[in-house]
Amino acid sequence: MSFQVTLLALAIVVGTTTSVRYAMRSRELRLVLAILAACVAMTIWAVSGLVMALTSDVQVERLAFIASFPVSGAAAASVLWYGLAVSQRRLFRSRWVWALIAAEPVLAAAALAVPACRAGMAAVVEGPGGPVLVGGPVLNVHAVLAGSLTVIGTLLLIGSRERSATGFRGRLAFAAMLVGLPTVAVVAAVVTRADPLSIQVAAATAFTLVSFFALSRPVEAMEFGAPIGSDDVLSALEDAVLVFDVRGVLVQANAAARELLDAWGVAALDRGSPELLASALPEPLRSTGVVGTPDGRLLDIRIRELRLSDGRAAQVTTGRDVTVVEELRARLAEQAETDGLTGLYNRHHLELVLSSLVARAAVGLVPLTAVMIDVDRFKQVNDTFGHAVGDRVLVAVAKALREGVRAGDVLVRFGGEEFLALLPGAHAADVAARAERWRSTLAELRVASEQGPVGVTVSIGVAEASRGDNPDDLLSRADKAMYEAKVGGRDRVVIANAMLAPQLPFEVLPDIPSLR
Ligand code: GH3
Ligand code: MG
Ligand code: MG
Repeated sequence: MSFQVTLLALAIVVGTTTSVRYAMRSRELRLVLAILAACVAMTIWAVSGLVMALTSDVQVERLAFIASFPVSGAAAASVLWYGLAVSQRRLFRSRWVWALIAAEPVLAAAALAVPACRAGMAAVVEGPGGPVLVGGPVLNVHAVLAGSLTVIGTLLLIGSRERSATGFRGRLAFAAMLVGLPTVAVVAAVVTRADPLSIQVAAATAFTLVSFFALSRPVEAMEFGAPIGSDDVLSALEDAVLVFDVRGVLVQANAAARELLDAWGVAALDRGSPELLASALPEPLRSTGVVGTPDGRLLDIRIRELRLSDGRAAQVTTGRDVTVVEELRARLAEQAETDGLTGLYNRHHLELVLSSLVARAAVGLVPLTAVMIDVDRFKQVNDTFGHAVGDRVLVAVAKALREGVRAGDVLVRFGGEEFLALLPGAHAADVAARAERWRSTLAELRVASEQGPVGVTVSIGVAEASRGDNPDDLLSRADKAMYEAKVGGRDRVVIANAMLAPQLPFEVLPDIPSLR
């Protein structure tokens, strides 16, 4: 007897401590409410057991026993509540589920008010050593109902293992085992026709054990961590995630994906909205690549096939906003091909475009004329006015040159004070006048300096690509023409092979090997 009293008293102490602890934490975590409810119920249950153990009046013992039915029902219901909360089932939010959770303890409480039911819970019978208390048929029904609630709660915990993060699966299994333990003890006691007090002691002892384990770190951490449903994780992502089942029907879309579909005016997964097939997605979302959205963003669309562990296939389409990255990339690409001082293209860009322009000209498709422009005696500008003024002169020259080019022309800072203009579609003879204009414009250019306005002249060499030319051929002819302009006294334009190239329409230009 005193052993039973000790176990019950221990359960009450542990239950009270645990309840207080969880009551303090329930504000930070609503999941804890389920555990708190279970702890409070189990503690009251143990109190009824203690009263039964201490009293010598069998009627009092009977009253204490049947009074424990609603609390044992509440303990079982709390396990179901916990299982639903952890597994994050949608139906957890349904009123019917709350009715299901509350049904057993409410019924047990209602049964207390009905004399016939009270009689069926437990009865006092005459035994060999005087009156004894025995459980009745209602006890069996109650044990089955409460046991079922616990079993469902436990199954929900086990079921959520699959969906929980790998690190929490073991903990979930452990928790499932723990919450089921008091039920196993009670059902075992009822099935083996143990006397009512032993049932209470079995439940209280199992509960004490569970409480000790429940306070262990892994289980405690689980309340906070597991399982955080994949829906919640996906909705926290900035990337849009669309999941299609094997039929190609959209089955999951996170918040970012819905927003994205919204941008195209497509409703998905809302009540009443039709099934959305992968093949009916807005065109840009149907294949991998960077695409523009109606609201002006750039998205990197990836499509992956998913093989699930059960053999099913699914398709996951993700869309990552790459607007900033793409803009940065474009800017970097531009910078990589632009000269920092003048803003003209640099040699790197020239290399990228020159060969194709020359190749087109070399086979007679589109004519191409190269204009090499070198600032005369620029060293003297630097020496006389300083490097900074020299820089400003280069910037001014570049600006003037840029104003003289057409769309499709390529203007390159070829070297320090050397510029190259590639003019597709133009014959050397057509360019002669433009080159002359550049020369005269630049000659009139003045850049302010402390010592007064600075002016420069340029020497210009013009060369047209001939059939069979390669890039070096063209550039060296332009360079040679420019050198001739230098030798000829600077501030002038020299046109290479001026007599030959422009004479015939380009399409019928004969192959002239001597020009190479
Ligand atoms: P020429 O008429 O024969 O072309 O004479 P030049 O002095 O222009 O030719 P040279 O090749 O001897 O000198 C080119 C000068 O251009 C030397 C170099 O210091 C200057 N230079 C090159 N790049 C820059 C630059 O970015 N800024 C400045 N300020 N000067 C530069
Ligand atoms: Mg020069
Ligand atoms: Mg030079």
